[in-house]
Amino acid sequence: MFVLILGPPGAGKGTQGEILAGRLGVPKIATGDLLREAVRAGSQVGRRVKDYMDRGELVPDDVIVRLVEEHLNREDAATGAIFDGFPRTIAQAEAVDQLLNGRGARLSHVLLFDVPEEEIERRLLRRSALGGRTDDDLPTIRRRLSVYQQSTAPLVAYYGKRGAVHRVPGMGTVEEVAEHVRHIVGR
Ligand code: AMP
Repeated sequence: MFVLILGPPGAGKGTQGEILAGRLGVPKIATGDLLREAVRAGSQVGRRVKDYMDRGELVPDDVIVRLVEEHLNREDAATGAIFDGFPRTIAQAEAVDQLLNGRGARLSHVLLFDVPEEEIERRLLRRSALGGRTDDDLPTIRRRLSVYQQSTAPLVAYYGKRGAVHRVPGMGTVEEVAEHVRHIVGR
C-alpha cells in the first residue's frame, strides 16, 4: 500500500503518517525529516539544502526525488510506504508515478489534511515555542504557507482529476483523525 499525505505544514501529517505506517507495517518516507537528518549529519545533501529550508523555500526536485528513490529501494518499502510531505510539486508527483510504475505498484490513497490557516499558524508557533525547528518563526511559517498555496496546493486538483483525493478534517484529536484515516484506508 502506497499512501500519500498532502496538506499544509502543521496539519498533522507527521503524527498521522507515523500512526498509519505503524498500523500497516510499512515505512514512513517523510522528506522533511530526511532532509533535517542530512543537515544535522552535515552530508553533501545537507549542505546543499540547508539554506532553502531555513528560508521556508522548497528544496530542488532532483534532490528530493533521489532521496525518495533511495528509500523506496530499501527492502522495508517493498510492499508499501507512507509519503509525508512529498510530493510538493507537480514534477515530484510525476516522479512518484514513475517510481511506482517502475515497481509495478501504484498509489492506493491520497489523503488531504484540511486545517484552517489560523489554526496552522497557532500550531506552528506552539511547535516553535517548544523549541526546535529553525524554520518555525512567524515570517518563515508564513513563507512556507505561501509556498504551499503556490506550489503544492495544485496537487489537489492534479490528484482530484483521477478521482483519488480523500479529505481528512484535521481539527479533531489525534485519535479522532487517526480513526478517520483508518476508515478511509480500510485498515
Ligand atoms: P516539512 O518537515 O515537511 O515541513 O519540510 C521542511 C522543509 O524541508 C520544507 O520547508 C522544505 O524546505 C523542505 N522539504 C521537505 N519536503 C520537501 C519536498 N518534498 N520538496 C521540496 N522541499 C521539501
